[in-house]
Amino acid sequence: MIEKSFFIRVIGCQMNVYDGDKLRGELLSRGWQEAESEDCADFVVFLTCSVRERAEQKAASEIGKFGKKWKKSHRPRLALLGCMAARLGDNLARKFPWIAVAAGPAHMGLVPDAMDRALETGARFVAGSETRAAGPISCAPRSRGNPHKAYVTVANGCDQFCAYCIVPYVRGRFASRAPDDVLDEARELVRNGAVEITLLGQNVDAYGKDFGGGARGRFASLLNGVSSIDGLRRVRFATSHPSDFTDDILDVMGSRPNICPSINLPVQAGSDRVLREMNRRYTKDEYVSLVRRIRAALPEPAITTDLIVGFPGETEDDFEESVALFGELRFDLAHTAAYSPRDGTPAASRPDQVPAAERARRLVRLNGVQTEISRKINASMVGKTYEVLLDEPAPKGEGMLQGRTATDKVVLVRAPLEMAGTFREARVIGSSPWCLEGELV
Ligand code: SF4
Repeated sequence: MIEKSFFIRVIGCQMNVYDGDKLRGELLSRGWQEAESEDCADFVVFLTCSVRERAEQKAASEIGKFGKKWKKSHRPRLALLGCMAARLGDNLARKFPWIAVAAGPAHMGLVPDAMDRALETGARFVAGSETRAAGPISCAPRSRGNPHKAYVTVANGCDQFCAYCIVPYVRGRFASRAPDDVLDEARELVRNGAVEITLLGQNVDAYGKDFGGGARGRFASLLNGVSSIDGLRRVRFATSHPSDFTDDILDVMGSRPNICPSINLPVQAGSDRVLREMNRRYTKDEYVSLVRRIRAALPEPAITTDLIVGFPGETEDDFEESVALFGELRFDLAHTAAYSPRDGTPAASRPDQVPAAERARRLVRLNGVQTEISRKINASMVGKTYEVLLDEPAPKGEGMLQGRTATDKVVLVRAPLEMAGTFREARVIGSSPWCLEGELV
């Protein structure tokens, strides 16, 4: 039997982490070995992101670096997966002969066979012209980068068509998984050691819309089912869309203590004009009212948001409305980005692009405002005690473990590695805008 080894590199979102975990499990079950580094792997798997131009450029440059080694030894082969493979897989495979497999999210199910074939016969596989809807790899992600936490995709693709976003074009139309599939996978993950599960989708709140009869109650019911699994200590979900987030979701969250009170609710802009041009389908007032309802319904929820500065046509006044919204709603954290034009989206061809330098200036200003808000919120937690799931060594600081509160705040504590995967009480003794320092009590 041919010895086969792989190394997985994930660039991008949690859905890529999930796809990578599934692929790892499937390859291991087929007799592949996971290499310690990409230097000693037969296959390097890249799970890529297309949301921003810079992420694509970085991935293309990383892929290019394999050329020298390939010319010498014809190793390693590359599997280019994720959104960038859906968008540019054909072109990149033509340019880089070491790409043996190129397949976007819709064709993940074909990847394990393609990798086997590439090693056994040298055959290359580019899914660009593949019309079979292969769907995902069917096994649960048994072998995970983090054994205590797991992701479960509940829906793929997106039907919202926000004017700046490439996702509907690379991940396809919104498609919910059957509730029994999601529940079976979640149960298997819990049997397999997961104590925290995050339900994933580009728009989880729309779960079930495509089953007919409307989405109302569907995600709430799924959330209720998953959170009722014995042994599952925490359930999270991401990402929410303000126009699909309904109060029945809050009712379930309020009644199930293991559903974490942390919600990522992208607002994307603070100006109604920009929201309309982005095709976001809600107004600023509707968004503010939803945040107020969440805060009234849940004890101490953490709300995070995403916001784009410099969308085409965004004026200084529009931008100041985003700044004011941050001041008014005081998010725990914000993922902010300067608008990045993506070919094929309506916003990319608009003539009124905001100059790059101005986008950068607005981003720095908004980040400064949010950093101060996060600093104050986190400082207010000093002296309080929280339950923390310790889950992995901290990236810096010997003898430190990193964990998260139910509200998804990062907490660093001095603790032995054997405590990873356990829930501990930690008192907060220090804070920064990005994380908390704690001591075990
Ligand atoms: S809802 Fe999110 S994923 Fe869907 S088009 Fe809008 S930004 Fe993209």
